[in-house]
Parts: sequence; C-alpha cells; structure tokens
Amino acid sequence: MLLTISTTYRPATDLGFLLHKNPGRHHVAELSFGTAHVVFPEADDERCSAAILVEVDPVGLVRGGHAGRPVRFALARYVNDRPYVASSFLSVALARLFGTAMSGRSKERQELAGQPIPLEASLPVVPCRGGPDLARRLFEPLGYAVAARALPLDPQFPGWGDSQYVALRIAGHARLRSLLEHLFVLLPVLDDDKHYWVGADEIGKLLRRGGQWLAAHPHHELIARRYLRHDQRLTRDALAALFADEAGDPDRRDEESDATEESVEQQVTEPGRTLHEQRLATVLGVITDSGARSVLDLGCGSGKLLAGLLKQPGLQRIVGLDVSHRALEGAARRLHLGTMAPRQRERVQLLHGSLTYRDVRLRGFDAAAVVEVIEHLDPPRLVAFEKVLFADARPRTVAVTTPNAEYNVLLAGLPDGSFRHPDHRFEWTRGEFSEWAEGVAARRGYRVELSGIGPEGTAPTGAPVGCPSQLAVFRR
Ligand code: SAH
Repeated sequence: MLLTISTTYRPATDLGFLLHKNPGRHHVAELSFGTAHVVFPEADDERCSAAILVEVDPVGLVRGGHAGRPVRFALARYVNDRPYVASSFLSVALARLFGTAMSGRSKERQELAGQPIPLEASLPVVPCRGGPDLARRLFEPLGYAVAARALPLDPQFPGWGDSQYVALRIAGHARLRSLLEHLFVLLPVLDDDKHYWVGADEIGKLLRRGGQWLAAHPHHELIARRYLRHDQRLTRDALAALFADEAGDPDRRDEESDATEESVEQQVTEPGRTLHEQRLATVLGVITDSGARSVLDLGCGSGKLLAGLLKQPGLQRIVGLDVSHRALEGAARRLHLGTMAPRQRERVQLLHGSLTYRDVRLRGFDAAAVVEVIEHLDPPRLVAFEKVLFADARPRTVAVTTPNAEYNVLLAGLPDGSFRHPDHRFEWTRGEFSEWAEGVAARRGYRVELSGIGPEGTAPTGAPVGCPSQLAVFRR
C-alpha cells in the first residue's frame, strides 16, 4: 500500500525536517504485521515528496489471524486485499514512522511545524465504503480540495461497475501535523474496518488525534462510530469526551437534569399543566405562527418539543440537536423513530453536536427553538453560541427561553443565590436577559421581543418579580 505526501513549500526539502526523515535515505520500520518503508522520490527546492510503502505479510496475517482478528472465511486467504490497500495498517504505520511529526514537534523546524503549508496526499487505492462521495464529505470540511475516483471492478469490463476502492488525492494548506492526524483517523473510517480488536483505548487515540478538529467536523458522529467499529457504548463515551468542556461529561449533566429542574419548577403549575409544558406550548406557538416549514430544536434533550413539532403538518423538516448522546437516544425512543412510518421518518432527524461549534448542518432553516439551554453554557462560550446561531446558521425566527432568576425567591427549597438546576452556569434577571438579547439582535441584524412565561409573581417584600420563565423571540 502506498501513500505519497508532497509539498511545494520553499525550500520543499524542509519536508524531511518536518517528518524527521532525511530525504537522501531509505527508512525502514518493522511492524508487527509487516514492514514500512519511506523514500523520497523527489526532493528539491521546489517540490519534495515522501512515499510511504507498507508491506503487509499476508501469509503471517492468514496464519496467525492477526492480533486477534479472526479470518472470516476460508476464501479470505485468497482475496484478502489488506496487503495492497491503504487501511488501518497504514494508520498504524503513520503513527510509528511519524509519531513526532504527528504531535506537532520538529527538532530543526519547530516554527514551520506550526504553520500551514501547501500539502498534498495521494493514495492510489483506498477501500472506501461509501465511495468517492464519502471521501469528499470527510475531507472537504477539513479544508482540502478532494479528487476521488471510484476504481472499476475490472478496467477491461466497465459494465461490471465500480469496486469499493477509490483513488484519492487531497490537497490544501495545512499543518503537516493536521494532515497526518486527518489521515490517521479517516483512513480506517473510509475503510470502515480495522485489522485489530477495538477496545476502550481506541477512544484515547481518537481524542488524541482528533481532539483539535473532530468536534467541529459535520460528520463527527459517523467518524466516531466507524472509527470505533460501531460499538455503541464506545461511540457514546467518545462523543461525550470530545464535547466535554471544563464542565465534564455532557451525558452525566443531562441525567441529573430532568429530576432536579422539574422538581423545583413543579411548584409552578397553571391549571392542568406544568411550567415546562406551558413553555413548550408557547414556543411551539411561536414556531407555527412564524409560518416556518423547517425548524431546529437546539439542545432538544429528550425530545419533548420535537414530539409537539412533529404534530404540526406544516413542518416538513424537523431537526433536533444535542451535545448529549444519551439525550438523543431518549429522544429517539420518545419519538419511536425506529418504528415510525417512512413519510414521518423523513421529516425528522437527530444530530449530535454542540452549539458552541460552527456547524454547516444548521444552515438553511426557517426557525430555531433553544429551550432552557443557554443557562447550561459557560458564560464565555455564549459568544461562540451567538456566532454559531445568529451569524452562521441564521434562521429567520429564533425562540430562546431561560429561567427568570428574580422569580427564584418564590420557589421553595431553593436557597438564596442557588440555581434551579445543578448544571446551570447562570440564571439571569429580566434585565440581564434583555441586555444580552438586545445586544445579540443589534450585532446580528435581528429584531427581538421579550416576554414572560407562567404566572406573574410578587416577592414577600411586595416587589413584582415577573414570570418564572422568560422568552426572547428574534426575527429578521
Ligand atoms: N430543550 C429541552 C432540554 C433542556 S435541558 C427541553 O426543554 O426539554 C438542556 C439541554 O441542553 C440538555 O439536553 C443538554 O444536553 C443540552 N446542551 C447543553 N449544552 C449544550 C451544547 N453546548 N450544545 C448542545 N446542547 C447542549
């Protein structure tokens, strides 16, 4: 299997310093499954290429059933493609050969190591379950120009169609470290297979090599799932760790949520419904009144609002996003996604992601609901949230709700200054919420209207404290 990495950075031979390999020599590394070679077929000032050749020992693979991977069927020994294609073997070889470069270090050219330079990687044969299109979807969001071509099953018989192999070339301005990390993670993802048993330590590898870029990748969920060979628990743990900020595991935060929040707020009921039901009904009204055909429920939790949105025939596209995988599993259960009629099923989609990362999947919607979510964000991350939603996604209508802190004096069991929920990072007074909302509207070209949800209250001192929950509706 072959990979060529080239640069036209001047002097191009600096590639040797970045890879810690002298372009004048032939480098060899012994691996448990074969041998890796690095040579530099071209190395002058204008252009330098490193060719990485990994020889897999097929006899050893079949005889041993390599590293715990059972040979699936007898024919495997004849049709085994592993020796020839760029797969997880190549990832292992990259880490072995270029471990230092992959961690961004260079003894002789440290500054250059941190700098994007023109780079190109070329792989004549990549197994790619999903074809050239998948290769583009994975590499283009990382800033590469991608040329991917399906290889025919047999060039002499075009009628036989395409094989599952792709000729791939990616080019762009990137740090060498990033290119190596992207290949390391994405080659086995394209292949959708690994030559070794995948255990919990794979999460560590994924986070170490993907921590800088994976969270913001629109297909991070598919990447994690395939990288971890479709192990649900590992995937969930990896996604939780990937998005855990200073606050820790988003799944755990979510588990604590329903219990406490609803119990403190349980005291506030209007005839027949809880405060939360009232909040959801209000937001549902805002969305339907806006005439939206497509809607985002951001921080959808266990999908209570989604269930209401699905009942609105005018909504053709309903997308729920949450940072907690567990919450999304809850939503899938609540909505019975698994057994939903196909026409309904097409209207709704659940996405894993964080509101503090720009996300192209959120573009092109008419409306968005953000119900009881902003108070879960660390205040310094609110700026990122504002950009993601109001500058990048830009739905015409946005409904945001958050608790009104002034009302807390009327909630029993809530000691002074504490929040309604242990994961809340803040709770705002009406003045604070309106200052934030007016600021967002002015900066991002929206109009905003503020109102309360739930019964108005009066403090024991006689001062009016407003409603328990507050709503901002942004329109543009
Ligand atoms: N909107 C739901 C859930 C509110 S609880 C409802 O009204 O019932 C807050 C939700 O926000 C949780 O599900 C939590 O996982 C999610 N959340 C917290 N931080 C987030 C972030 N950065 N991006 C996306 N969702 C987030």
